[in-house]
Amino acid sequence: MRAHRQLARRLCTDTPRRSILSASFNEAAALLGGGSGRGSSASDVWSLLRRGESPLDTAAAAHLPMRMRELAARVFSLPTHTVSAEAASACGTHKALLRLHDGLEVETVVIPMGRVDEPDSSGGDGGGGGGGGGGGEGRSTARSTLCVSSQVGCAQACRFCATGRMGRRRNLATEEIVAQVFEGVRLARAHGLPPVRNIVFMGMGEPLDNIDAVERALETMTDQRAFGLSPRHVTLSTVAPSPEAVRRTRHWPARLAWSLHAADDRLRKMLVPSARHGTTALRDAFGDVLEMRSARQASLLVEATLIAGVNDSPLHAAQFASLLLPLTRRKRGTCKVKVNLIPYNRNDDLGALGRTFEPATQETVLAFRDVLVEAGLFCSVRAQRGAEHAAACGMLATASRRSERRREALERREARLGLASRHGAVEGGAADEDEDEQVCTVGA
Ligand code: SF4
Repeated sequence: MRAHRQLARRLCTDTPRRSILSASFNEAAALLGGGSGRGSSASDVWSLLRRGESPLDTAAAAHLPMRMRELAARVFSLPTHTVSAEAASACGTHKALLRLHDGLEVETVVIPMGRVDEPDSSGGDGGGGGGGGGGGEGRSTARSTLCVSSQVGCAQACRFCATGRMGRRRNLATEEIVAQVFEGVRLARAHGLPPVRNIVFMGMGEPLDNIDAVERALETMTDQRAFGLSPRHVTLSTVAPSPEAVRRTRHWPARLAWSLHAADDRLRKMLVPSARHGTTALRDAFGDVLEMRSARQASLLVEATLIAGVNDSPLHAAQFASLLLPLTRRKRGTCKVKVNLIPYNRNDDLGALGRTFEPATQETVLAFRDVLVEAGLFCSVRAQRGAEHAAACGMLATASRRSERRREALERREARLGLASRHGAVEGGAADEDEDEQVCTVGA
């Protein structure tokens, strides 16, 4: 114990304070001393973080020993983000917009699912999964899925995506990815939503373009002493920038989802302009990853955003089937492949650019599904949630940035007219009238 105290004292004097969300459990244990077992200081710190509470908050940490609170305050600083907006939709989806240290913003979305009165058939992974509020008691299928981002903007420029239009602003640090989980858990508890059990990397950004930070964030999410989520309940959605990047994920504690959209290379290049590799090479890379994984982890979700008249015909479905079926024969036929069909979510931002994408009709989606099922693939159709409050990929952040740009344009115009002294009144008026601002603050 004395050695731990000496180590902690040395680290406190030698090391600048670091944000509390930037340290993994083991790093927190090294900084705080006292080991990493049950009842250790690190375990006390993480028991609060896992509930969306800060050990640096006097009220939340009141039950902890004073000595430990003082040590934590000397070692750690508060997270570097603030929550700049929250929104709730009628279907129960909640979102928070996180303003980062440099003013850029990223959104995290909590999607409640399941029912409280059903027996739990999830298999009980025992993961902590960040406690939520109401509905989390006893055995139940009620849980929340959290959608997180890995970048601000995205370089992949998918033609049907609002984030793709932003371009890549920058990669998120590990701390900023972990912060989304922390805020998602806090949001779930504050609004009485079921506990966060699932994480999907389906927000802004291509995770494999930010590979090191995402890998470290996954460790914290699935460390049973930290957020404690089951790797089977963490899904990483990727367009698969290259076969090499795909193979880097072979030992990652997460399920993979391939945003394929079209099996035909020319059509896929039109939808995902950054695509540099053929679908066959990418498929084989996924196959190699599945082979390296345990039977429980050897599953791949394949996503297709279906756009009317573009990629939704039975021929496109047949191309999907012939591309994907060889995967089901890998690992002596034990690999599981499931296709998730996503009707395109109409996006006003893209409409303004003159693109006229329309969602595939329900009839076409079901016909697409039937072709895949007849070929022997599992297939599901994703329900749309929260679209009325810009729940689609990147749309909340895009809306907020649009408000910001409008305010900046107003400021410039007022300055040109020599009315800079009225700036405060102009800004307030613009925000009040701004439709987008209202989108971002519903339910705040
Ligand atoms: S769909 Fe995903 S990969 Fe494509 S531009 Fe949008 S965020 Fe990037």
